Amino acid sequence: MTPDPKLAADFVTTCPIPISEYPHVLLAHGGGGRLMHQLIERMFLPTFASAQLAARHDGACLSVDGVRLAFTTDSYVVRPLVFPGGDIGALAVNGTVNDLAMCGARPLFLSVGFILEEGLPMDTLWRIVASVRRAADEAEVAVVTGDTKVVDRGKGDGVFINTAGIGAIAGDVEVAPARVRPGDVVIVSGDLGRHGIAIMAAREGLEFDTPIESDCAPLVRPVLALLEGGVEVHCLRDLTRGGLASAAVEIAQAAGVHLRLDESAIPVREEVRGACEILGFDPLYVANEGRFVAFVGAADADRALEILHAEPLAPDARIAGEVTDAPAGTVTMRTRLGTTRVVDVLSGEQLPRIC
Ligand code: MG
Repeated sequence: MTPDPKLAADFVTTCPIPISEYPHVLLAHGGGGRLMHQLIERMFLPTFASAQLAARHDGACLSVDGVRLAFTTDSYVVRPLVFPGGDIGALAVNGTVNDLAMCGARPLFLSVGFILEEGLPMDTLWRIVASVRRAADEAEVAVVTGDTKVVDRGKGDGVFINTAGIGAIAGDVEVAPARVRPGDVVIVSGDLGRHGIAIMAAREGLEFDTPIESDCAPLVRPVLALLEGGVEVHCLRDLTRGGLASAAVEIAQAAGVHLRLDESAIPVREEVRGACEILGFDPLYVANEGRFVAFVGAADADRALEILHAEPLAPDARIAGEVTDAPAGTVTMRTRLGTTRVVDVLSGEQLPRIC
């Protein structure tokens, strides 16, 4: 069909991402950096404008007849399908469950949609399906609906999975970027960078003296422990694509505050640091799938750490920064050398198809 020239012209003049900038989608548009933010901020958020999207949270917080729910969705295109410490099935459950947890919700129900490529070995599919089941059991969620599609050979990459999740938010819990305020402490739940490096190593056939496994895990328990322990949690964010740096910038901008991080307080395992140096990555930007950052009122900082240290998934949690009022919307980091540098989102693509 020949496109209507007037419609085509209208599209070019009205498209929020001008053709002169990016006529085609790039891998970086899914990488968690500047181009993905641009796509979301300029195209998706204004088009689908809603109060929930405007909150720039990890999921939508909804109220239905007085019942408070969290709702989120995520698609998984990780390559390879199986990697040290996990596979696409575990990732598809944990990623969505974690986004619900970051809304302060107890995850309850999941949908799972499989997009399969013709020719995928049935035993590979079974391994992934069994992994979805195990991860759902571990996170105490039920898979209650789903979908199956098959695309032609060569038109997929084995398996893509979409999961959506619903969770329940307890009565007085209010966790959102807008609640972050000057004086809050920034708690990082554990060591950073293992998921990204494990994927990279599996993809490129790299071997390290100490094997690096993904940190892929459900974060429900440490989050609920904080909330049920009465800690004044203002905001939570899992440190997935774009790592701690991107999460910090997103929250600083959404909350209109300044974040000051302390590099020496950010835990990174020696083998991950070494791999990052060899590969030219900054661990601050490398993806995690079992780590989060919590913004907590300063008076509750010690209790929050005490609670997290008792959790199997956050024994190394520590205070890695603080919130101040200015300059609003920015993040800086005191480096190991004692200097201060600005932390920004990635402008290019560090590692595509990480999740
Ligand atoms: Mg998230």
